[in-house]
Amino acid sequence: MNLDLEGRTVVVTGGTSGIGLASVRAFLDEGAFVAICGRDGDRLERVAAELAAAHGADRVLAKRCDVTSADEVAVFAAAVDAWRGGLDALVNNAGQGRVSTFASTSDADWRAELDLKFFSQILPIRAFRPMLEKSPVAAIVAVNSLLSYQPEPHMVCTSAARAGVQNLMKSLSVEFAPTIRVNTIVLGLIESGQWDRRFAARPDPSVDRDTWFADLARSKHIPTGRLGKAEEVARAIVFLASPAASYVTGASLEVSGGVSRFA
Ligand code: NDP
Repeated sequence: MNLDLEGRTVVVTGGTSGIGLASVRAFLDEGAFVAICGRDGDRLERVAAELAAAHGADRVLAKRCDVTSADEVAVFAAAVDAWRGGLDALVNNAGQGRVSTFASTSDADWRAELDLKFFSQILPIRAFRPMLEKSPVAAIVAVNSLLSYQPEPHMVCTSAARAGVQNLMKSLSVEFAPTIRVNTIVLGLIESGQWDRRFAARPDPSVDRDTWFADLARSKHIPTGRLGKAEEVARAIVFLASPAASYVTGASLEVSGGVSRFA
């Protein structure tokens, strides 16, 4: 199948690690030009240098940007416009989950989580929309979680915020049609940055990585018996962002190893 991404311009927020970085590599492999952002300037530079060495310096733009800051997102969007004069696909991936129950979530935590989950979508969409509107193949892909419709009590505010993001994207898929397609990726457990950090903080440091992840998959009853790989998510993101998905909008693609209990 030809994904028709050669020469297209793509933005991946949080493109310096895990699922975002795997997606960036996949877009570059398809011949796209890719702009990435993240908050950690050192990591951004390291990743940008590695990508430029593999794919050519002209194919990658890296800018420090916190996606919850309207000003920083506006500067990032202006840089992409100056670089490529347009945009074909926006992948809103930046973020992380918050582990907390209702009892342990303060009002400030609720506000911070709603800010991160909603505004990491709203601000880039607002800033990049004028550029997307000029593309004949415009697409937005929001990276979301199964928690949006299968909430976990130990991630109470992330689950609630994720549900709102699903709802928001459905609205946007109608409001932006037929000019911009809007879809979501709904993730189960994926072996990447946030699970690496939880592995590093495991209570028993004598447990090795393979055992820890195998136990996790078992305890979560994942039918495929393992966590997903960032590259497996990246392929789904790249498809939804590409012109090959031209009639797909308002959809959610679950990448979860079958752990969802919904038909
Ligand atoms: P990683 O921690 O590996 O990567 C997260 C990326 O987002 C990094 O590049 C990070 O860079 C960036 N980022 C985080 N916050 C911001 C911010 N405010 N502004 C700009 N960049 C930011 O995470 P994953 O690859 O695991 O997760 C990717 C997405 O998928 C996240 O939204 C996550 O919540 C979601 N998800 C992941 C699941 C999983 O099992 N892995 C399950 C469900 C959802 P920096 O820190 O430098 O800013």
